[in-house]
Amino acid sequence: MSDPRIENVVIFGSGPAGLTAALYAARANLEPIVYEGVEPGGQLMTTTEVENFPGHENGIMGPELMEVMKKQVERFGTRFVLDECTAVDFSQWPYRFTTSQGQGQARTIIIATGASARYLGLPNELRLRGHGVSACATCDGFFFRGQEIAVVGGGDSAAEEAGFLTRFASKVHLLVRRDKLRASKIMQDRVLANPKIQVHWNHGVADVLGEKQVEGIRVQDYVTGQVADWTQIKGLFLAIGHTPNSRPFVHALDHDEQGYLVTAPGATRTNLPGVFACGDVQDRHWRQAITAAGTGCMAALEAERWLEGQGGH
Ligand code: NDP
Repeated sequence: MSDPRIENVVIFGSGPAGLTAALYAARANLEPIVYEGVEPGGQLMTTTEVENFPGHENGIMGPELMEVMKKQVERFGTRFVLDECTAVDFSQWPYRFTTSQGQGQARTIIIATGASARYLGLPNELRLRGHGVSACATCDGFFFRGQEIAVVGGGDSAAEEAGFLTRFASKVHLLVRRDKLRASKIMQDRVLANPKIQVHWNHGVADVLGEKQVEGIRVQDYVTGQVADWTQIKGLFLAIGHTPNSRPFVHALDHDEQGYLVTAPGATRTNLPGVFACGDVQDRHWRQAITAAGTGCMAALEAERWLEGQGGH
């Protein structure tokens, strides 16, 4: 079998980072190909209204924003493939990669595979996802107007989401697995000062109750070992961090202890020439659609310049 065509720019991921990288690469005539991944459109596809993406005066729904972005990219001739990268071989250049359906070769690779919210891994929690269990307060908080809800986590996300959810809920129970919060001091102060938030130290969720939707949670006190069913809880929000979708790449690229790919300061280049990373797979801190799009732009410009340095394309 002959070797597959050698692509100039292969982009893995189709959230704001991947699509912006594609937009810039396509307009530079690099004919990029985008492997859309397991969640085409990325995390915004599970968001409702996006009010902080500039250019949308009255806000826009997450899925609609991604649809418009994709159409804009398609205008310039980007190829989209509904497939994901499963493995890479960066030991020789052009680089080789494997997807679920085949193999390919590329001069430059832009990794924009994003991150996924972590769940506790309880069977009923996964079954009731979208039916009272959520990892996105901004997406789903609205549905719990006047009800009691629980948030799990002790970091800045948990603190922020607990505060946000008090706009809707009658009461927010924050379940923290240790006796302290990891969140920054200012966020801690806000949580502790909010009369609608009750913090339960050394507590965790042992199970989620309900058939079709959440009808309560089984809570464990980690100090006494006691378990109790809290049937007044109608919504469970997980804010226990995110996992970067970097698994196929970590054997070859520098990454931190959590798997976030490491890029050069102020740039998107990784430790391997011609391999770039943008968006949430390399950003553990900002995680905004607009910052992902910004780094996607940087990745495409850096790839273009790098290709020029290799004698053009
Ligand atoms: P973090 O990793 O900072 O915190 C995760 C929290 O979840 C920790 O308190 C951790 O507990 C807890 N946790 C993890 N696994 C479990 C589990 N299985 N059961 C119960 N609890 C669990 O993630 P965040 O998403 O909060 O924040 C990520 C980054 O984004 C941070 O750098 C943060 O500062 C930043 N951020 C900043 C914001 C802001 O500045 N406004 C807002 C949101 C995020 P433990 O402490 O015991 O490990």
